[in-house]
Amino acid sequence: MQLRQDKGVSRKFEELIKLALERGFFTSASEIYSDAPAGFWDYGPLGAAMKRKFIELWRRELVRRDCMLEIDGAQILSKSVFKASGHLDSFVDPIARCSKCGAIYRVDKLIEERTGLHVPERLNLDEMRRIVEENDVRCTRCGGKLTGYYYFNMMFRIGIGVAEADAYLRPETCQNIFVDFLRLYKTMRRKLPFAIAQYGKSFRNEISPRQGLLRMREFYQAEIEVFFNPNRANDFPKADAVMDYELRLQQVGESEPSEITCREALSQGLISSKLVAYYLALIQQFYEKAGIPKERIRLRQLGEDEKAFYAVEAWDLEVETSLGWIELVACNNRGDHDLGGHQRMSGQEMEVLDDGQKILPHVFELSMGVDRSLYCILENFLDLENGKTILRLPPYLAPIDAAILPLVSREPLTSKAMEIYDELRRDFDVEYDDSGSIGRRYMRYDEVGVPICITVDYQTMEDDTVTIRFRDSAHQIRVDVSDLPCLMRGWLAYP
Ligand SMILES: [Zn+2]
Repeated sequence: MQLRQDKGVSRKFEELIKLALERGFFTSASEIYSDAPAGFWDYGPLGAAMKRKFIELWRRELVRRDCMLEIDGAQILSKSVFKASGHLDSFVDPIARCSKCGAIYRVDKLIEERTGLHVPERLNLDEMRRIVEENDVRCTRCGGKLTGYYYFNMMFRIGIGVAEADAYLRPETCQNIFVDFLRLYKTMRRKLPFAIAQYGKSFRNEISPRQGLLRMREFYQAEIEVFFNPNRANDFPKADAVMDYELRLQQVGESEPSEITCREALSQGLISSKLVAYYLALIQQFYEKAGIPKERIRLRQLGEDEKAFYAVEAWDLEVETSLGWIELVACNNRGDHDLGGHQRMSGQEMEVLDDGQKILPHVFELSMGVDRSLYCILENFLDLENGKTILRLPPYLAPIDAAILPLVSREPLTSKAMEIYDELRRDFDVEYDDSGSIGRRYMRYDEVGVPICITVDYQTMEDDTVTIRFRDSAHQIRVDVSDLPCLMRGWLAYP
């Protein structure tokens, strides 16, 4: 497996990849072929189920909680969309190749790897070339000098129809939202501020995809775009509910986050408005609901040189893992960059009436990487202590709700267990399993995070009760079969 050659992977990362491959969470796409490109992954049944539950939590804690509109847009968009958005010109990586062996490098990453210097995102090509020459950074394979510097656009270009007209796979899901903004504003009869959400695939032609789900070329995003009047971003009563909530903010220049209430952060001017404070609180609360301990979450402020080309204010929600802090959500104040760009390019007016004035709405976004989030959650709950593997996922994120196990693979226990399975599978994600000893089966389901095992034994045949075994405590209780649906709803409930 190529992953093992990656630098800087941890034991936990390796164990998780092993579990994922062996138990149906995810696997590399096209894996039986030698020309399988890196950076593409298939979710197996367990991964797909867990992703579905994660998205359901996102809908619950963000989309429904905030009365957002959710859309599902096309993945292929016209060239004009990306001219307007700036991606055709600015969504680029600096590239150079070795003059001797032809190896291709992303210059900023190579400099960082070889010298330890931090290369700001917006440094231009000439300055990078100067750093390379001053520090004598060379090809890591043959020691050759670097040459042929250029910018590589990371969008996948595709040809539409026989004429193969230029179009692009979207590099972020949010462009559909900006293009559709005015129609949605009108047809859904909204007033500012309001948010539009979308979950779906995005595509980036990364030069060096690696580390499993952490940097992919085809990936899922769950994005939220909040449209607001910049003059009224503090006129936002919804924020009152989170004023005493503590954000874990790490400002530029600080090495650690500090806990500070939304109220304090606003009064100290760390956050530009109540609206931004509210959505930062919502996204941090979402990851707490997903089970990530608060001390492993931070909102890191991006400096001028780190921000995306469209951002005027930017925080990254990051989660600490065995691989270090990983960026999961870009929280960007995109200003009027997007609607302004599309208005200019398309001629379609994007201004709306608010507070008696015509204004071009500004956008605050919560742009979430779904695959990375799943990795971080899996890693957070992977317990490898005492030589056993237990995936201690919150029940509402577990891919399988419960396993139904006859104590032994023998009649009448198997028929009775099958009967319970048939009853429960209409409403729950349950599995029936009668192979191997009961102890081995418990272990097998602990490994993939199943919170409850339901065991059918000889007593079941007498009094219609079953044994419930809880994954985290290994504690067992006896319950009536008829009470199972109701009890399970309680055990699987959101906090
Ligand atoms: Zn070389």
